[in-house]
Amino acid sequence: MPRKPKGACKDGLKIQYTTIKARLYPDEAQVELFEKTFGCCRYIWNHMLADQQRFYLETDKHFIPTPAKYKKEAPFLTEVDNQALIQEHNKLSQAFRVFFKSPEHFGYPNFKKKKTDRDSFTACNHVFESGPTIYITKDGIRMTKAGIVRAKFPRRPRNGWRLKRVTVEKTKTGKYFACILYEYTVKEPEAVIPAPESTIGLKYSMSHFYVADSGELADAPHWLRQSQEKLAKLQKHLNRMQPGSKNYQEAVQKYRLLHEHVANQRRDFIHKQSSRIANGWDAVCVRPDALDEMARRLPHGGPLDSGFGMFRECLRYKLAQRGKAMIVVDRYAPTTRTCFECGFVQDSEIPYKKKRWVCPKCGAVHDREVNAAKNIKAQGLAQYRNTQKRKAA
Ligand SMILES: [Zn+2]
Repeated sequence: MPRKPKGACKDGLKIQYTTIKARLYPDEAQVELFEKTFGCCRYIWNHMLADQQRFYLETDKHFIPTPAKYKKEAPFLTEVDNQALIQEHNKLSQAFRVFFKSPEHFGYPNFKKKKTDRDSFTACNHVFESGPTIYITKDGIRMTKAGIVRAKFPRRPRNGWRLKRVTVEKTKTGKYFACILYEYTVKEPEAVIPAPESTIGLKYSMSHFYVADSGELADAPHWLRQSQEKLAKLQKHLNRMQPGSKNYQEAVQKYRLLHEHVANQRRDFIHKQSSRIANGWDAVCVRPDALDEMARRLPHGGPLDSGFGMFRECLRYKLAQRGKAMIVVDRYAPTTRTCFECGFVQDSEIPYKKKRWVCPKCGAVHDREVNAAKNIKAQGLAQYRNTQKRKAA
């Protein structure tokens, strides 16, 4: 699908996208159709890719045949929504486009396997005079071929949102979901100028989720930790079992269900935290800590597990929607070992285990993480002022 330039502006208006993820409850015939569609999408992807490769070898030219070409040799393709097949063509073209553009960041497109690749397909909405091809009802979503599929929506689209496309996917635990993409036009928010008292500095914390410059902590909720511990136990149990046995299969399913549950709990926590901060503060200063590096130093994962990267990403777009700034300070700024009171910089890093330290110069007693959060905020604000000055000059 041709992508509109991000946030294309006209008269201070811009286009935004949002996704509503609905749980689907397809009936038997719809399940069969979905399974068929997943299979056809894999089939068409793999055949187009194979033909592209052969054509490239023979002629040195890049070309991907359209799905229509395959319908004669594989008539079952006509049983599923043609839109889903066209989308596979678009996705493959896009995969090649990004690969050609920067092969070091995007791998060469792979063949899809039933075992490892996610079961999914995408269909675009087309609005005809007679109406749209895809729309939602009170408790369902209408799709081409499938008809109305029963669905449960976590929220409803607002007035003026335009349904662009739907991706149907099946999780490893056998649940069906629809990710419904909406497009809408909003007024470009006025830029909020951050004052120190309405700016917050956040430091990623291993023991707490984050620590703010005010000393406020955001611990991951108790229930999230509990299910995470349970998950680790199950994993251990699985490792000791004989793969292939019936018990093993059951344990795998149990593990997947719990894993899904933890992911949902975590996502919920992250959305609540990021909304709370984006609503309550005018600007947020953070440091782009190398989360993957930190995770490697920890016994049971760390930042990646806790979802701090996702939290930062959520926070960034929620702030942007409100015209607010996320100020990212220099990753190498010594925010932990600088004394916030007098500015003295310690020579060596303060160990993770050391919760408190005393400044050798001014004698201030610091909480390791709160002091770092204060420095992150001060540095962020200074950085912000400098960019404003540069812009004005
Ligand atoms: Zn000091």
